[in-house]
Amino acid sequence: MPQSPTPIARSSAPETYDPVEVLAYALTAPEQQDLTVADMAGRIRELLAAAGQRRHDACRDLVERLAPLARANEDALADAAYICHAEPDALAEDIYALRAFAADPKGATAVAEMRRYLEEAFVPESERELALDRAIADGQVSFGVLVADRERARRGQRGPTTERAVAEENAAYGSFVTGPQRMRTAELAFNHFRGVYSRRYEDFHAAYWTASSRLHARLLEARRDVQALTRLNSLVELGAPVGEATIGVYEELIEATTACEVEADLAEALNTATVCPGCKLRLGAADHAEAAGAVLKRLSQSIERQLSRLSSVAVQAILERSSDPRVERFLKVVQAAQITTLTEVLDDDLVGYLRRFLLEARISTLLDPILDHVQGGGEDGESATRDALEKLADVLHRAIRGAAQTQSEDEPAP
Ligand SMILES: [Zn+2]
Repeated sequence: MPQSPTPIARSSAPETYDPVEVLAYALTAPEQQDLTVADMAGRIRELLAAAGQRRHDACRDLVERLAPLARANEDALADAAYICHAEPDALAEDIYALRAFAADPKGATAVAEMRRYLEEAFVPESERELALDRAIADGQVSFGVLVADRERARRGQRGPTTERAVAEENAAYGSFVTGPQRMRTAELAFNHFRGVYSRRYEDFHAAYWTASSRLHARLLEARRDVQALTRLNSLVELGAPVGEATIGVYEELIEATTACEVEADLAEALNTATVCPGCKLRLGAADHAEAAGAVLKRLSQSIERQLSRLSSVAVQAILERSSDPRVERFLKVVQAAQITTLTEVLDDDLVGYLRRFLLEARISTLLDPILDHVQGGGEDGESATRDALEKLADVLHRAIRGAAQTQSEDEPAP
């Protein structure tokens, strides 16, 4: 995690820096002891070893990030520092973090938690003020400030009040910690951000799920269309199934728009978490309105496509041979392309009946030439007969598979 005590220090950071100087400041400020590079390497190793004993995630990250420093001897210390951090204030802040965990584990843990919150809270671009609040807190909550605060307390000093005292304190920390901030001020900035962020998040969470519930209801209304399309797709004689991917997306959207139920404890959860523990919704996340609109449109288009197949002359001719009044009504619906009525009349019985009828018609077109051949007392028809029988077997297999599929989709396993 990039840690910079102040945005000001970040913007004025040189492209290259003297890591030994930065380490000297960060390890000894505000006293500015004269340390040899070997002393520094030794002290860093001690601090890292102590941090490695702690369970906090921030310590684990520090040990991981500063591993090159732990391995470096005095000749390699500067190079190792560059490998760890390209910016001097980030390097200084990590060293202050090590010092803070060693001297004040409780205070350091609180800073680490605040920094985590500030990093994890997602602030969309549209939330300018909130972004500013975060930038302010981000610039103040740092391990460097905690160390400076403790050092003042240790010496019985108060925070610097005059400009000159501020400048002197800055100089003592090599300007990697800017005064006159104190941990208390930093906490106030953090609490302000967290308060505004939490309220904004709660409002957003409520509005998002209200809108999503409406989408959910709209999608549920289309459930019958999905069933109708699944049934029509099972009529393999009509051709390859249509809109199967759309049905998949539909089911995903039903799931995604199922309301989050964590509402009651949300305010409390947002004290430590930056998203709802139930739905992990990100502040400003787009709802599924667009995807739902698209899926409903594609669903209608898929049904229309199957209807146009059904109303093709050949299929109509086959179905018109039926004397069943239900088929007659169904044909009228198909001809008028009435999707709403279609989804009402198209139940399992009717679809089973249609399947059978279309299949019988297909079988008779395959059998007719053979039967004609037999009727005419033909000879040498063996290979043609075998061909026709293979096709027949294929047609039956497909029909059975199609029927089995609709059964398993419509009925949950017993
Ligand atoms: Zn939620």
